[in-house]
Amino acid sequence: MTARYEVYAIKYAHHERRASQNFLDGKPADPHDGPMPLDYFVWLLRGEGREVVVDSGFSAAMAAKRGRAHIRCPAEGLRILGCDVSKVKDVVITHLHYDHVGNFELFPSATFHLQDLEMRYATGRHMAEARHAGAYEVEDVVGLVRRVYAGRVRFHDGDGDLGGGISLHHIGGHTMGLQVVRVPTRRGWLVLASDASHFYANMEQVRPFPIVWSVPDMVQGYARLAELAESKAHIIPGHDPLVLERYPAPAEGMKGIVARLD
Ligand SMILES: [Zn+2]
Repeated sequence: MTARYEVYAIKYAHHERRASQNFLDGKPADPHDGPMPLDYFVWLLRGEGREVVVDSGFSAAMAAKRGRAHIRCPAEGLRILGCDVSKVKDVVITHLHYDHVGNFELFPSATFHLQDLEMRYATGRHMAEARHAGAYEVEDVVGLVRRVYAGRVRFHDGDGDLGGGISLHHIGGHTMGLQVVRVPTRRGWLVLASDASHFYANMEQVRPFPIVWSVPDMVQGYARLAELAESKAHIIPGHDPLVLERYPAPAEGMKGIVARLD
């Protein structure tokens, strides 16, 4: 491992919900049920003379439609770190759920990286069922299809190589084609799990999030995350507000917005 990347989580939205809504086996009547909000992030990798963005987030209009609290445009969040989003060449899309994809026009120079299986899932037979389609937005999916025809999507099948030490790994479970990102940092191999584990608690307690394509794949995915990362402390869940508590802000003014993960 010679390359070393800086890795940042940037919060752009928030949603209040209860713990029972975050676990497949969650019961609202449980006396332990309580608030367990979700944060929404995009991530930035910086090093080796390049910047890679992981997920493109949703817009204020989508937040209003979905009843989420939009805090800032994801691009504005990236700009806080000095990232010129119009020049970013690689955007990894972990999966095509509405909170991870969209905002294509903000990234006019980017190639979008996606798993074959995720496109198959998002455009195939299962989308006729609300249970599976609910977290997808057809216009986001169509938007990415348009980029396929424009030659701006690079597909990966299983393990993918982004060059410079960064790799992508398919972990189906939450969706059919979700992928996670493995990146070398000064403290070792870091894994951005995205929704392979929404919260630390999902993987630590082996209790899947209720939006799930395959429970066995999701459970196996927790073990796979641990294999890919330097240690369990090197796995970054996709939506856990604890990320902003466990990791420092790069500067005083970025507290509660940006966490430096490496
Ligand atoms: Zn998500």
